[in-house]
Amino acid sequence: MKQAQAMLKKVYGYDEFRPGQEDILNSILSGQDTLAILPTGGGKSICYQIPAMILPGTTLVISPLISLMKDQVDALKRLGVPAAYLNSSLSAEQYRNTLRNAFDGEYQLLYIAPERFDAPMFQQLTEHLTIPLIAIDEAHCVSQWGHDFRPSYRQLALAISSMKDRPIVAGFTATATTEVAEDIVHMLALQNPAQYVTGFARPNLSLSVVTGVNKYSFLSEFLKEREQQSGIVYTATRKEAEAVHERLIETGFSAELYHGGLSDQARMQAQEKYRFDDSKIIVATNAFGMGIDKPNVRYVLHWQMPGDVESYYQEAGRAGRDGEESECILLFEASDLHIQRFLIEQGMGDDSRKAVQAAKLHTMMNYCRTDQCLQQYIVDYFGERSVTPCGKCSSCLDTSEKIDRSLDARMALSCVGRMKGRFGVTMAAKVLKGSQDKRLLASRLDQLSTYGLMRQYSEKDIVDWLNWLVAEQYLVLSDGQYPVVNVTERALPVLNGSEEVWQRRRGKVKQLLANSSQDASPIFEKLKAWRKVQATTENIPPFMIFSDATLRLIAEAQPTNFEQLLEVKGIGQAKAAKYGEAVMAEYAKEDAEEVEELDLAELALQHQRVVRPTSAESSHLISYENYVAGSSIDQIASDRQLSQQTVEKHILRAAEEGHPLEWETLLSAEDESLIMAVLPEVDASLLRNIKEALPDHISYFQIQVALTRRSLQ
Ligand SMILES: [Zn+2]
Repeated sequence: MKQAQAMLKKVYGYDEFRPGQEDILNSILSGQDTLAILPTGGGKSICYQIPAMILPGTTLVISPLISLMKDQVDALKRLGVPAAYLNSSLSAEQYRNTLRNAFDGEYQLLYIAPERFDAPMFQQLTEHLTIPLIAIDEAHCVSQWGHDFRPSYRQLALAISSMKDRPIVAGFTATATTEVAEDIVHMLALQNPAQYVTGFARPNLSLSVVTGVNKYSFLSEFLKEREQQSGIVYTATRKEAEAVHERLIETGFSAELYHGGLSDQARMQAQEKYRFDDSKIIVATNAFGMGIDKPNVRYVLHWQMPGDVESYYQEAGRAGRDGEESECILLFEASDLHIQRFLIEQGMGDDSRKAVQAAKLHTMMNYCRTDQCLQQYIVDYFGERSVTPCGKCSSCLDTSEKIDRSLDARMALSCVGRMKGRFGVTMAAKVLKGSQDKRLLASRLDQLSTYGLMRQYSEKDIVDWLNWLVAEQYLVLSDGQYPVVNVTERALPVLNGSEEVWQRRRGKVKQLLANSSQDASPIFEKLKAWRKVQATTENIPPFMIFSDATLRLIAEAQPTNFEQLLEVKGIGQAKAAKYGEAVMAEYAKEDAEEVEELDLAELALQHQRVVRPTSAESSHLISYENYVAGSSIDQIASDRQLSQQTVEKHILRAAEEGHPLEWETLLSAEDESLIMAVLPEVDASLLRNIKEALPDHISYFQIQVALTRRSLQ
């Protein structure tokens, strides 16, 4: 365990495990099969990555999420951990190369898509590899009861049980009810597994349910207050996603749109713009988010209530993966129930499945209504106990007094009762308001004794009031496209005066965060700008370089040497080596600028130094800068009267020092994988050996490029 702790610090730069991680690691490292039920963003991957680094051999990670696989492997490489993946996104050649390297034992982690994990493949792997651990991600896919059953997962258990030396098997999932958990243990043939349900509470999330507001004005106010923050707006349907998106664009927000009805290209584009922080807002259906790891999502706002607590928490949980304070807001109206009922009706599945979904919908409804701590409500639902009230959700913060609305309830209920279940909520509200609506008059509803009983309220307020009575189950809406409203049994004691109705008025969500002021630190902004440039150069999302939280800590601590830098949470050795100098230069520059302001002569001098470095030491940077600015190597060589080889050396030296480089301009991915493939086969201490094993078109310089790049990863 000490080793695990050391790894956590060295590789990931963290001092402490999150709650539960330690138990799971202990269990796996002691050789026990393990089933870990951890929420998305609960630090699942560390639970198999650290054992993979400690145990000898190659750990296999089975995962169905292709984009996540790529992100994780990229991130691992960045942390200096040899890892690769096998899935359908690879070309036949890349696939062969990866497999060959795997057989040579080059990787500590090998990610495999379940479809690839067939019998012959498995046979091959077990013959060639020492496999200490098989980690099965999204393990609920093995269960028919889970919401995402995949037949290919069924083969896993067979394959694993046929192994000569059966490794430790660990299943991971974010969503598992008791039945699903039992099913996973059974289907994967886990041997006497240790089970952990942990980490469902997300202390950095503030959960809120907001009801009875004008959604559009709420949304636009909400977004205006969070201009600098990145967030997701989820809608239940494509149509609504489009409507909300259009409305935001009209109001002057820049936002992306994502739903299953768009072309692959449009979706990819939206996703990438969002992921790379080029666009702060994305309006999406639940098609968005699976396998997208973006840690700095500051809020997730649901335009409607989703169909079940699992989906809600999974989507809401995409906020704040970096551990920073984040908000999850659910806009709820009683009519949301209809959309969800409709979706269940239209959905696949037999009647028993639909009944299960209807029950789940009911639990979701209760979440929207409960006065209990929302965090507690959710954690309870997932089976984790002993979590204390969060103190920051809309229930915990609700200090509003309850109001006695028995009289209003009696008026509304008796009116609905008199309308005999033939009209919807809107018409009932019109009657109570005493409206002159044509249809109302035509149906002679103005003759009812309840006509105009609530005329002191606005029609909108009456609609909200009726919807609240629906949520509290005094009224019920019928299914179908034009739901009609009727009274329930629960209304009777209210109508006869034996029961009172008290309502807690939930106000608008407060601005719970003081984040914006934190964001305003000039050094933090500077570091963010640097990160954006660096990320663009490397063509990766900014967070893969450093999270917001890490940047903020750097901005606060302003470390001036590597030792201090490594103290910062979230910085391991690989990242410190790669970016340390550049990062520290950012605020050093800041200091320099201050000095410059004071001393113009010094400024002039410094300026000169930057533009025309004359010492031999920085000659390589001039070549480098010209290259990055778009000059070819030939051109630079002739401009500077240097040999081509010298310029090439200059560029690589600059790269080794951590200056960003677009490697693809020097070496295509294809050629690079060719080079990487021959490395294990030759005595690579001599460049000539490598060169001879390769096609003629690959130059010595390109081989050096590949080697340099590898040494930096
Ligand atoms: Zn709470």
